[in-house]
Amino acid sequence: MGSVSHRRIEWHPGQPLQAVCLTGGHPAPSAGCACGIHASPDRRQLLDHGLCLVPGLPLVLGRVAVWGAVVRDDHGWRGQYAYPVELSLVEGTAGDDGTDRLLALLARYGVPVDTVPLAEAVGDVSAAILTFQAMSSRNPPS
Ligand SMILES: [Zn+2]
Repeated sequence: MGSVSHRRIEWHPGQPLQAVCLTGGHPAPSAGCACGIHASPDRRQLLDHGLCLVPGLPLVLGRVAVWGAVVRDDHGWRGQYAYPVELSLVEGTAGDDGTDRLLALLARYGVPVDTVPLAEAVGDVSAAILTFQAMSSRNPPS
């Protein structure tokens, strides 16, 4: 499972993710930097901030635990370590027959897994855009 904000960062089942600073060369998180594993206090704040969506890729939301060094800022927390405590596959993002396969993959993290409606996960505007993009990719203009 890859990060929505840093596509090359992978969350591996059974392994805490450890933060590194990609720009400052110091231990992460640092109070004077933006590094660390970001966690928001609630889903509404994520919707207001705008999730990074890639049409055609499954989207998973998660509640995470962050620990080690933790910095509190205006948007939530930035942690040194993180691991999911709950995962939700966003309905309609797994493709026509991918939901069961993805739920089985998410179960490897050993935490509760469920699904969440698209509009609840990404907000109404983003959901409409994703739905339109999905329809367009199935029926490309000729
Ligand atoms: Zn940093």
